[in-house]
Amino acid sequence: MNIQAKLELGNKAFLNWRKISFEERQKLFSKMAELMRSDVDKYAVTITKEMHKPITQSIAEINKTAGMLDYYANCENVLAPENIETEFNVSEVHHAPLGIILGVMPWNFPFWQVLRFAVPAILAGNVVVLKHASICFGTGRLIEELFVQAGFPEAVFQNFEVGHKEIQEILESPYVQGVSLTGSGKAGGEVASIAGKNIKRSVLELGGSDAYIVLDDAEILKAAKEAPRGKLQNTGQVCNAAKRFLVQKSVENEFIPAFVEEYKTYVPGDPMDKNTRISKMARKDLADELLAQYDKAIANGAEIVLPLERLSDQELKPGIIKVKAGNPILQEELFGPLAMLMVGETDEELLALANDIPFGLGNAIWTKDKKRAQFFIDNLDSGTVSINKSTSSDARLPFGGAKQSGYGVELSTVALREFTITKTIVGN
Ligand code: NAP
Repeated sequence: MNIQAKLELGNKAFLNWRKISFEERQKLFSKMAELMRSDVDKYAVTITKEMHKPITQSIAEINKTAGMLDYYANCENVLAPENIETEFNVSEVHHAPLGIILGVMPWNFPFWQVLRFAVPAILAGNVVVLKHASICFGTGRLIEELFVQAGFPEAVFQNFEVGHKEIQEILESPYVQGVSLTGSGKAGGEVASIAGKNIKRSVLELGGSDAYIVLDDAEILKAAKEAPRGKLQNTGQVCNAAKRFLVQKSVENEFIPAFVEEYKTYVPGDPMDKNTRISKMARKDLADELLAQYDKAIANGAEIVLPLERLSDQELKPGIIKVKAGNPILQEELFGPLAMLMVGETDEELLALANDIPFGLGNAIWTKDKKRAQFFIDNLDSGTVSINKSTSSDARLPFGGAKQSGYGVELSTVALREFTITKTIVGN
């Protein structure tokens, strides 16, 4: 079936799906969570085969996604009509779905990212078509099968195995009313401009280079032990992982050796082995790109703390560099096992370093002092601020970025409204 025929089918599905109650839709998501849990290994193995995530982390991704389905299967219906007191007999606010929403999704969390976008969009009454990353078409097929097995009507979710050249044709269709893209800034900018030209809604979840700020009163060793896990999960290919470790000068000599010792325990291994904590990069060109960024950072004055070494085409031994303000590498996202260390004297200096980048996804601050934490909460430019923990997403809490990390919100009941129209009903 060609793209236009599939979009026709999607539109027919939408015209019926929008009439189904919120509670009926929720029941289907509950069934879907059950199905995912009954075959975790099948889904996890596909993730690992396609993009090489260590198998225990692929299993964790499936379980986390099933938990997110449970959340939406039981969440409050914030889309129910609201009454507003006015002089009219009827004055109500309704939240109506838009139509077909396109998802353009990345490979790094190939189940989680797709469903994180699709579930609230579909629960709100929209239908979805997916253009998955080209190395994750098998996962796209499995997700489509899950919708069918859970009992969703035909074409409420359709997987399109297309390249990104087809995105324009899909977005220009009058049946398609919005797009959600998770990926790089380059892809986001291109897709959002097609959406803009066609006056269609867009949500962008893009890159990050988040700071992990360790103040002098923090539990330094705890922060140092936790830091490499946050950074190196999914072989360092996580949008909201800490990528810059900002340490207060007075505790530099305590934090850095403990951080480096722990970091060195991460050694690439077979992704199918349950003891492996990091493995290959998803694609060879991504390893090439990270090595080129490493060279660029060093050419601009970065100091090598642990060398980033190529072990094979896609396998890199994790590295750490110490970087000073002004190094142009700070304007880029390092998407892989290369961490940056920076040192600052005062809270104000650390804050300025943290914000001096084009991105703003999920910064973390380590301190025991609530007042000092509040200073960072108030002034960090990011969608999330985590306190005494690494940043991670949670189905119950909104997730989104600032600056070039994108716009729009996913997760929580806030995401239910992203692809709806606010309709006012007023009169006598
Ligand atoms: P990517 O190369 O931008 O790909 C993402 C999606 O966009 C894929 O489906 C890709 O299709 C498509 N695409 C690529 N180039 C495009 C273009 N020029 N025009 C239209 N579509 C295009 O990103 P990725 O390498 O898969 O993922 C890594 C990036 O995603 C990182 O920057 C990471 O920080 C970000 N990310 C952000 C979040 C968040 O929530 N903020 C979450 C995860 C990842 P093809 O595969 O066919 O090229």
